[in-house]
Amino acid sequence: LYEARGVGFGSVMSAGGKVPLGLKKKNQRIVVTGGAGFVGSHLVDRLIARGDSVIVLDNFFTGRKENLVHHFGNPKFELIRHDVVEPILLEVDQIYHLACPASPVHYKFNPVKTIKTNVVGTLNMLGLAKRVGARFLLTSTSEVYGDPLQHPQAESYWGNVNPIGVRSCYDEGKRTAETLTMDYHRGLGIEVRIARIFNTYGPRMCIDDGRVVSNFVAQALRKEPLTVYGDGKQTRSFQYVSDLVEGLMRLMEGNHVGPFNLGNPGEFTMLELAQVVQDTIDPNAKIEFRPNTEDDPHKRKPDISKAKELLGWEPNVSLRKGLPLMVADFRHRIFGDPRDNQG
Ligand code: NAD
Ligand code: UDP
Ligand code: UDP
Repeated sequence: LYEARGVGFGSVMSAGGKVPLGLKKKNQRIVVTGGAGFVGSHLVDRLIARGDSVIVLDNFFTGRKENLVHHFGNPKFELIRHDVVEPILLEVDQIYHLACPASPVHYKFNPVKTIKTNVVGTLNMLGLAKRVGARFLLTSTSEVYGDPLQHPQAESYWGNVNPIGVRSCYDEGKRTAETLTMDYHRGLGIEVRIARIFNTYGPRMCIDDGRVVSNFVAQALRKEPLTVYGDGKQTRSFQYVSDLVEGLMRLMEGNHVGPFNLGNPGEFTMLELAQVVQDTIDPNAKIEFRPNTEDDPHKRKPDISKAKELLGWEPNVSLRKGLPLMVADFRHRIFGDPRDNQG
């Protein structure tokens, strides 16, 4: 019953094609912080399907129970309303630490809270890992590279980050979280893993989170103009969520600390992205230019050689293949039309 219900609408279980590594039978006790969010809920689907017991900790700032409702009633699944800024006692084998708003609009909403989540929240989860001997995985970000002066970005690049800007609560917060993670590893022997995640999209993203893919898709579906910030020549590299989840699980199960870039090297300007959205949803969608936000990185593209070599991982869902899967989910959530489930 649980398996059948686990693959609910918006799940990406099969999007990657081949049977993924992480689907091997396991019986571990795993905490996923931020598990009610976009990435976390897809990760939980995979862990539950593999046979693990999963505890989700989430304060529901940007996460939603709807993302996990198909696991309610499964004795191997537990959802705890908890803010990671507060300590908690649990007995587990692994900790996937995702709790933190990811969209610039969300993380700038209460910047001090974002820093606390990244610093105190990460400290608490590392303290938990230390107490019970669990393996800890941090979901860091490509934003640690700031407005990069090296292109594409390799893990050896230290970044170009403004410490006092409007994005600092997030990028400096994650940089500190990486520092804490490495200090618990070096100083206390905690088993850790660090992923640097590049822009990821897919079903279950918050519809109005202000990120570019969710904005463009929602705008095209609602017959509103696509809002391109600045001149639209800045670039990002967009990864489909099932590729990311596969990478996170390989990283957790593998023997390397990292950091590892997890992203799709396919690089697009925002104008090119708008074109893909037009091609996918509505060729007549208009484009409207808006002023860009402060400290917006000009370009971003992962060098994934390290993950390829040491984790045997690379993404296999292109933007043109992944976007329609997200569009079907958004269409369903915006218009509630069951016929759109079929796509
Ligand atoms: P999301 O906003 O959908 O999910 C974050 C989850 O964390 C939400 O469920 C939210 O309610 C929860 N949360 C936030 N603060 C919390 C707190 N103090 N205590 C408990 N729960 C809290 O974002 P996402 O896209 O799923 O991102 C997940 C992780 O991946 C984040 O750490 C993010 O920084 C990282 N990341 C994501 C991307 C991306 O493009 N999606 C890129 C780089 C890094
Ligand atoms: N912590 C937690 N759960 C645990 C163990 C620790 O939330 O099971 C928190 C603890 O409250 C502390 C943080 O993690 O704030 C760091 O813990 P650690 O033991 O490393 O440091 P200390 O408590 O000695 O400062
Ligand atoms: N952007 C845009 N239109 C939007 C939202 C964002 O052109 O409606 C741009 C934004 O200025 C940035 C890029 O898209 O250059 C990616 O923004 P997003 O907030 O998705 O993620 P970021 O990579 O900046 O964290």
